[in-house]
Amino acid sequence: MIERLPVEVVNQIAAGEVIERPFSVVKELVENALDAGARRLRVEIEGGGSDLIRITDDGEGFLPEDLPLAFASHSTSKLRSVHDLDHIASLGFRGEALASIGSVARCSIKTRRHDREEAYLIRCDGGKQNDAVPAGGPPGTQIEVRDLFFNTPARRRFLKSPGAEKARIQELLCELSLARLEVDFTLVHEGKEVLRLPGGEDLARRFASCFGRSLQKGLLPVRREYEGIKVEGLVAEPDLARRDGKLELLYINGRRASERSATFSVRQAFREFLMRGRFPVYVLHMSMNPELVDVNVHPRKAEVRFVHSRRVAGTLHEAVRQALQERGVSAAQTDGGIQVRDLPRARSGFPDLPQDLFARPASEGSTAAPFGKGPEPAPAPIVRVSDAGGGSAPQAASAAPVEQPNPFRGVSGRFLQVHDLYILLAVDDGLMVVDQHALHERVVYERLRAEHRRREVQVQRLLTPVAVSLSPTEKAWVLEAAEVLRAGGLEVDDFGPDAVAVHTLPAVLQAADPERLLRSILPVDGDQDAAESLEEQLVERFHSMACRRAVMSGDRMSEAEIAAMLEEAATLEHPHNCPHGRPTVLTFGSAELERYFRRRC
Ligand code: ADP
Ligand code: MG
Repeated sequence: MIERLPVEVVNQIAAGEVIERPFSVVKELVENALDAGARRLRVEIEGGGSDLIRITDDGEGFLPEDLPLAFASHSTSKLRSVHDLDHIASLGFRGEALASIGSVARCSIKTRRHDREEAYLIRCDGGKQNDAVPAGGPPGTQIEVRDLFFNTPARRRFLKSPGAEKARIQELLCELSLARLEVDFTLVHEGKEVLRLPGGEDLARRFASCFGRSLQKGLLPVRREYEGIKVEGLVAEPDLARRDGKLELLYINGRRASERSATFSVRQAFREFLMRGRFPVYVLHMSMNPELVDVNVHPRKAEVRFVHSRRVAGTLHEAVRQALQERGVSAAQTDGGIQVRDLPRARSGFPDLPQDLFARPASEGSTAAPFGKGPEPAPAPIVRVSDAGGGSAPQAASAAPVEQPNPFRGVSGRFLQVHDLYILLAVDDGLMVVDQHALHERVVYERLRAEHRRREVQVQRLLTPVAVSLSPTEKAWVLEAAEVLRAGGLEVDDFGPDAVAVHTLPAVLQAADPERLLRSILPVDGDQDAAESLEEQLVERFHSMACRRAVMSGDRMSEAEIAAMLEEAATLEHPHNCPHGRPTVLTFGSAELERYFRRRC
């Protein structure tokens, strides 16, 4: 028998789409306040928002006669007909948010128009709405949402920790605030003010107050207009790039939204300056005729579509490329006439190393290549001049790495260092060429891994702790991971509202920049969902960082360091390749050399 579902059930189903977690409630309510023209917005949350969300704005307020419809589904003051969908200027338009929220929480709205004497209060409890009653209060609107999902326990079970939720909400406010510089935002968590963004800041300042002061030093202005498409904002210097796309902030007509080809075109513009696996940092506002944008693609309004997507992408690309190029030009001028094309591509950082190549501790006794995971990256072949070959010049024959004995065992102490890159060694059976950086990397890697396995990572205490400013999510992650980090040699603790302090470095990395080291191990988007434990992931990142550190080119090694390295190399588990697969060693067999020099026929 087919029956119409009761309204409450319909709304609860709709809520499933729009209201996923406290964060979504805050998003909808803050958007409503902004649509109502608020200049001052205060968000208070308790229990990460699932116990209480209270949003107070000084916007225009509800008309008292509208209140009976406030929690009704498909009820909005922002859209009258389907034609209006073509030129939406408000953040909301679906008329679903309050109905959805009202059906899964205990809500109240207290509101007063600026031109009225009286405020009104209306409540809605799990979809059951009371009549509005007169109340006292200032102009504007205050909405309270308590006990979110109290009547949908399944949802409640999926909630993230209050800390994570608070962090995400803070990020959300930051994101929204970048499109409303004139608005004053405050976030209060458990009675403590955790974010305050005064109205009237300029974009660069606000960006930095939101996401860390370290950003402010490297922001480049972007401005371009082409056929009615306007792009304005900031891109960060390539060396501020991140390991995730979290600070790729694109706004279309004042709405934060993403669109594939647009995001891609910005990344393309950065490509020549950025290593693979790094994501640019930017905040870009695009404006264009609203009829050329479809905002009604996604229930949470997170995506848009462009009528002229190629033109939009092209304009964005040009705008960003130009900003980056101009940076190049001014750098060239100050550096005494270096041409733009001579500027280093990535101004800092480490070689681009594919993340999935980092070795997993090989299962004991395994003779397989040191890479235990995923699509087996073939280790670079051990290049050995074959004794059997009869060529007149040494020929590099690639042999499959069958159980190779450790080539460093029993090498004598004498060596010759060439070009700060290679070490030549006489060995019993000929001559060995070692890539010193590749070998150093392997040595550092295995040493760290062994120390870590034994839970005795050697640390170096910093004379003065180094403060690192982080975004709320990053900070929450770091503090949660503090124990695991400590086991890896990195001691960090809380340091003020948006920072942590680093106290120790692993001794192998004592020359590293503590801030860069910490940043390099922050999780990439989506990482937490990977099957490995947090600890495994950390160890992995940490070691890869150790390796990157080791291979910094231009590192000069003293003779004593080389000697020590060779000695240690004799104990390596996998001496033939660096942890990313590059060969460490090339051997010329005596027989081959003799044949080449015609000492033997
Ligand atoms: P939408 O934002 O899509 O219109 P909502 O369910 O979020 O739908 O809100 C319904 C209506 O309630 C809005 O159209 C608006 O008229 C009114 N409203 C919501 N929040 C506020 C607010 N903070 N101040 C004034 N009016 C509001
Ligand atoms: Mg809305």
